[in-house]
Amino acid sequence: MYKELTDLPGIGAKTAEKLKKLGIYTIEDMLYHYPFRYDNRSRVIPVRELLHDQKSLIRVQMDKSTLKRRYAKAKRIVEIKCFDDTGAVQVIWFNQPYMYDKISKLESSLLFGTVKDFNGKKHLVNPEIIDKNKETYNKGYTPVYKLTQGLTNNFLKKVTHDYFENHADSIEDIIPHYLIQKYKLIIRKNALKWMHFPPSEKHYQKAKITLAFEELLVLQLGLAALKAQKTSEKGIYFNYKNEIEKYLKLIPFELTTDQYRCLVDIKSDMNSTMPMNRLLQGDVGSGKTVTAFFSVFLSFCNHYQSAMMVPTEILARQHMKSFNEIFNNTGIRAELLLGSQKEKIKKDIKSRLESGEIDFVIGTHALIQESVKFFNLGLVITDEQHRFGVNQRAVLSGKGNRPDVLVMSATPIPRTLSLIVYGDLDISTIKELPPGRKKIDTFLLKRKKYDQMLRFVEKQIKSGRQIYFVAPSIFENDNAIESVEKVYAHLVDNLTYCRIGLVHGRQKNEEKESVFGQFLDGELDILVSTTVIEVGVNVPNASVIVIESAERFGLSQLHQLRGRVGRGSYQSYCFLVSDTNNETTLKRLETLTISNDGFFIANEDLKLRGPGEFLGTKQHGELDFKFINPLNYGKMIEIVKDEADRIIDENPNLRGEDFNALNNSISEFYKHKKIILN
Ligand code: ADP
Ligand code: MG
Repeated sequence: MYKELTDLPGIGAKTAEKLKKLGIYTIEDMLYHYPFRYDNRSRVIPVRELLHDQKSLIRVQMDKSTLKRRYAKAKRIVEIKCFDDTGAVQVIWFNQPYMYDKISKLESSLLFGTVKDFNGKKHLVNPEIIDKNKETYNKGYTPVYKLTQGLTNNFLKKVTHDYFENHADSIEDIIPHYLIQKYKLIIRKNALKWMHFPPSEKHYQKAKITLAFEELLVLQLGLAALKAQKTSEKGIYFNYKNEIEKYLKLIPFELTTDQYRCLVDIKSDMNSTMPMNRLLQGDVGSGKTVTAFFSVFLSFCNHYQSAMMVPTEILARQHMKSFNEIFNNTGIRAELLLGSQKEKIKKDIKSRLESGEIDFVIGTHALIQESVKFFNLGLVITDEQHRFGVNQRAVLSGKGNRPDVLVMSATPIPRTLSLIVYGDLDISTIKELPPGRKKIDTFLLKRKKYDQMLRFVEKQIKSGRQIYFVAPSIFENDNAIESVEKVYAHLVDNLTYCRIGLVHGRQKNEEKESVFGQFLDGELDILVSTTVIEVGVNVPNASVIVIESAERFGLSQLHQLRGRVGRGSYQSYCFLVSDTNNETTLKRLETLTISNDGFFIANEDLKLRGPGEFLGTKQHGELDFKFINPLNYGKMIEIVKDEADRIIDENPNLRGEDFNALNNSISEFYKHKKIILN
């Protein structure tokens, strides 16, 4: 039996190197390198039936007397007239001069190419010549693979095909047989084969379902194994007396029931030797920060250091401000660590972190530099966790000795997705908003109503409120998209008495911070910005946000942006400016005008756009799905989760022959994905 790729005929060391570029290191990898589409060669099409723009397979005789080569518009052309019983077709190759010799030797052939009408005459363009000996794997639905320099589709097709021809029997099942039967799945050998060479659409669907099931099962059991391992590790036991009561006295408002419940979750996790590994999720403005700060308090009371990592400096400063408002008389020594700080300051903070003279640090990526060391890091918080890779979180945690971990996210994730994305985390959710919050009135606005809207904005400013304008691009380069520069110029011209600032990602940090600081301190009436303000920015006095070219943003992102207003007691408004006529887009945007519920919106977004936004590489972490689109597999995810839970209950060590292969796959998973946990 073949083990290594290079054991396969036709694959030498050089080819193996090229295959690595496609992520193919083993034979197994090759079998899982699924085609991204298929050519339909299931039927030889009579020439008379050829249709413009259709990829078609034809079997034809060559009229050799018509074979010629010529130049046209700097292209080298080979062409020949071919025919079958039903008619004739002109076959033409551009820039493949070697075809001339090849054709000279042929009397008839099977050809596969695209049909084009040139001047009302049918042509078959750049067809592949299918040799007699290659016909077996060039009929039916044939795979089209992602390729890399120096590898052809035909080559991959051939080695894959040969492997199935000669070694298919060595492909064992991973899914236990009782599950294959229960869910009418197919055996793995066929599933893999049909993924590459499906005899029909139906076979392909069966194969896909089986492989998705397999992938989910390994994932769920793998995550369960990781979690079991994690909970068996000893972490820090934080002593608890009555810190919740003490903490409640520090904050200037009453916590909502949800916030309180999350506080208790956090307390229970920390007050145990099992390391906390918890996600705190809640809609924008639901008050996650104040909830998370309790963990810092409890850590401090136990004489441990805490660190909080956030994606932007703006957010770091703001959290520090909120922190100081709560903790000003408690003796907690808190500092910021930011990339833009002077070297001298950073050095000083680092040295005090190492000596234990700082209890709590809030920082950006600067925190995960190697030079940052802690005296006794007991707690790690990450805000807006989807902005960080799991690796980055792991690096920060690695600076302590199994610290407790709390991650925060304002991107609500539908349940089926959270099983996948956060399979390893315990989840606490804040659903209810703090009292007194008013629904943010949201309007979809055509550009011709823009001036009317500006009059409204003026009124708000006159009554003391502040306003955000957000645009998708920085510079003016495309008339269809609004840029912050253009919006800024327009506002400066039209609202002459207003104080207007501009921030965008290309500015120097200091400039950004300074403009933002002015807005925070109420010295600016209007802040024009790109989406740099999307994350967590908190100015309770802001009551209107205008989002230009709104069709350019995802719903969840718009919801995040909208969450910049309505953070205080003022009635707040969101204007989505868009001239789009696309009905789907309009429908998407209308979701925001009818709902303020992040979970509802996320679900709608998922329905309309697919899961890309949720499973973008960052959130997705190291989990790399072969082809599961959780949108289509919601039901299956639940089913597999139940089956996995049952297996863990009844047979936690996966004993028995039926589980052998599954066991191996999980160990593989475990080996590669260790980093998933913090
Ligand atoms: P997010 O969940 O988006 O991070 P924040 O923690 O920034 O939300 O909270 C938003 C605002 O609501 C802050 O100004 C915060 O002080 C305030 N807040 C949080 N919890 C409450 C509460 N229970 N009652 C009143 N205001 C609250
Ligand atoms: Mg926040």
